[in-house]
Amino acid sequence: KLAAKSNQQQSLVQISDNVTFGREEIIIIGGPCAVESYEQMETVAEKLHTSPVKALRGGVYKPRTSPYAFQGMGETGLKVLAEVSHKYNLPVVTEVMAISQIEVIAAHADMLQVGSRNMQNFDLLKELGRAGKPILLKRGLAATIEEFVMAAEYILSHGNSDVVLCERGIRSFDNYTRNVLDLGAVAALKQITHLPVIVDPSHAAGGRELIAPLSRAAIACGADGLIIECHPVPEKSVSDAQQALSLEEMIDLVHTLVPVAFSV
Ligand code: PEP
Ligand code: MN
Repeated sequence: KLAAKSNQQQSLVQISDNVTFGREEIIIIGGPCAVESYEQMETVAEKLHTSPVKALRGGVYKPRTSPYAFQGMGETGLKVLAEVSHKYNLPVVTEVMAISQIEVIAAHADMLQVGSRNMQNFDLLKELGRAGKPILLKRGLAATIEEFVMAAEYILSHGNSDVVLCERGIRSFDNYTRNVLDLGAVAALKQITHLPVIVDPSHAAGGRELIAPLSRAAIACGADGLIIECHPVPEKSVSDAQQALSLEEMIDLVHTLVPVAFSV
């Protein structure tokens, strides 16, 4: 398999001049679940660009459980991301849900995220193999490690070697947390593949209280980075409000991670 460790040593996935996954440095991506306005993203970037956060996130095409919930700002949101990205020199990651969105997202963002709900959208994965942009592939809600690796294999085998895996929690019997963060999968993926692996503690926890300890644990078990949701006014977030950190909490958290990153 192309993703197999035996094929090559650690791969490096570069998304901008100064952001590369797979090196010693832990890459932290921060931002809201959804892009809501220019002012919102500008506030986020203005606060985070001087911190150890190296990239911005924000969905503009949102996979919402309810069709009546906010579906994202679409192309207008992509323009917001691109403007803020250039102003603060922070690369941006945003979700792609359909083949028809690839071209416009690739024109505005530095990395395309495949969400959990699309991990096995094989036609989308094949087309992302030809997208010419790095891909952040999130683990499916109920995907085995083998299925996760095979999903990455679709992208790799269609011509794109820039794939970063993201563990974001899986469905299990206990719903005390939104999902169950599978750190065993992180350790295993680091052993069996050469791809960078990052962790999303926000969608795993579903609540802001657990994000700090899960972030520390993720780094301690070998993750190459983290993607964490934060918002200027967390309780006002249009989606995933309960798990959003404030920008101050985000900055405090990333500073506590620096010593953890150096000790492993
Ligand atoms: C997200 O990153 O906002 C998201 C919808 O994540 P997931 O696909 O992991 O649920
Ligand atoms: Mn979210």
